[in-house]
Amino acid sequence: MDFQFSEDEIRFRDSVREFAERYIAPRWVEIDEKGKIPLDLIKRMGDQGLFAIPIPEEYGGMGGTMLMAAIAVEEIAYHDPAVATAVYVLLNNGWPFALYLHGSEDAKNEVLPKVASGDAFFGIASTEPQGGSDVAGIRTVARKKGDKWLISGEKSFISGVRELMELPVGGGFFLVAKTEKAEWGHRNITDFVVLPKWNGKLKEGFNPTIYDEIGRHGISTGGFTLEEFEVDDKFRIGEENKGFYYVLEGFNIARTLVAAATIGSARWALDKAVEWLRERRLFQGRPLASFQGISFKFAELYAELEAAKYFVYKAAWMIDKVYIEKDPTYKPKDLNVPVSLAKLKGPETATRIYEEVLKWHGALGYTKECNLYRGWLGTFSYTIGAEGAQNIMRYIIARDVIGSEYVRG
Ligand SMILES: Cc1cc2nc3c(=O)[nH]c(=O)nc-3n(C[C@H](O)[C@H](O)[C@H](O)COP(=O)(O)OP(=O)(O)OC[C@H]3O[C@@H](n4cnc5c(N)ncnc54)[C@H](O)[C@@H]3O)c2cc1C
Repeated sequence: MDFQFSEDEIRFRDSVREFAERYIAPRWVEIDEKGKIPLDLIKRMGDQGLFAIPIPEEYGGMGGTMLMAAIAVEEIAYHDPAVATAVYVLLNNGWPFALYLHGSEDAKNEVLPKVASGDAFFGIASTEPQGGSDVAGIRTVARKKGDKWLISGEKSFISGVRELMELPVGGGFFLVAKTEKAEWGHRNITDFVVLPKWNGKLKEGFNPTIYDEIGRHGISTGGFTLEEFEVDDKFRIGEENKGFYYVLEGFNIARTLVAAATIGSARWALDKAVEWLRERRLFQGRPLASFQGISFKFAELYAELEAAKYFVYKAAWMIDKVYIEKDPTYKPKDLNVPVSLAKLKGPETATRIYEEVLKWHGALGYTKECNLYRGWLGTFSYTIGAEGAQNIMRYIIARDVIGSEYVRG
């Protein structure tokens, strides 16, 4: 057991921290206020190598690890606690990596270098209006026609819809569809690289909409319908009708990075709390920290955050064992519990921390000036959904520990 980052990881963390202090921290409030990550910042993050961190250099990536991606996402969320920038970074690490694992050489060569450079976006389109938790119940259908697929259906609550339309190259999604029949079940699911805008051109058959959300404003969440949207067979991901397994692997990767974002944001909130509890003086000049009603709660929250951090690092470390080191001791299904622990604890710990820290700031905490609410609302998005609802994490942990013959979904 080694509870330390390696020298390379520490150097990498420090370089991301320096970058985030310089280019993200001064703009995070404006990003949340204006509801947009400026394109120049996206490009700068690409130049810094913050996308496609675990992707090999031959596809334009950094040739790093998932632990490094988690470190980067955590640092960025610390400097943009509303988490929009961190979410942008996590999507453009997690889903390109899922494509790298199962995509064709043509698709990887086409998409990955442009995502790595920051010129294109690549996220996930799984959720549909009838319910995101039930992946086997999706209704989007892909029909084969010669060497093409025609995809029709509706996706909802998808991150990055506006960004892909605004970026110079464009972008798209790791999209989950039913092959031929939209019957309930997981055996007829196939995944595709769907690029509604690519090389600057918006394709036909893609009709987007953007939702008005309560937080995490800097990155858009939208929906779209596809009407006979044409996709080349080379953009099918992996084997036909095996898409359920590939997307679950992708979820395990992305959930780990989601949890990394929430712990980074929560660490910022606790650091802000430390300053406040030392400075704020009441009852004859005593610092708030001197009251055990507050300092004991602080200690509990600190302990929760430390535990959540270790869940995140362990999950990322195991992903590296499976996919980067290809250590035969570890299989993709071994990731289910460690990843679900990280995704369960990260967002819930973060929102609990925000709730307390905000209250410790008294009435000031309830003002926009205080900015804590931005982190609260941003991290709260991950207690709702985005890469899987919290009860789905509970279900996975219970199913894998107690046994699938006892625990029903
Ligand atoms: C900010 C944001 C960004 C998102 N970005 C994306 C994206 O980029 N791509 C994408 O595909 N999706 C995205 N989503 C959608 C997200 O993944 C879904 O919200 C999530 O999968 C849950 O689906 P749902 O919202 O339809 O809720 P439902 O599936 O309808 O679930 C509703 C509630 O029921 C609970 N529940 C569901 N099933 C069970 C069960 N078996 N037992 C007990 N409780 C259960 C859930 O925990 C939840 O609280 C995003 C969501 C948000 C909020």
